[in-house]
Amino acid sequence: MSSDPPFRILPKLVDNTRDFWTGGAVGELRFWRCQDCGYYIHPPQPICPVDYSKNLTVEAVSGKATLASYSINH
Ligand SMILES: [Zn+2]
Repeated sequence: MSSDPPFRILPKLVDNTRDFWTGGAVGELRFWRCQDCGYYIHPPQPICPVDYSKNLTVEAVSGKATLASYSINH
């Protein structure tokens, strides 16, 4: 039996996903947030789905939340 770590496909880093995938390296959970209406946008996209604003920036969040649902994939 091999002791090698399991093979993982890493996510592709592009401009609008880089902050999300690399924030953990500095202890931050980061999301894009609309600066006009305050909506957190995930998965990242170049426009706010609420008010179609392009005034978006990346913000670190506390990581505290209420779990509403989850799934276990097999
Ligand atoms: Zn918005």
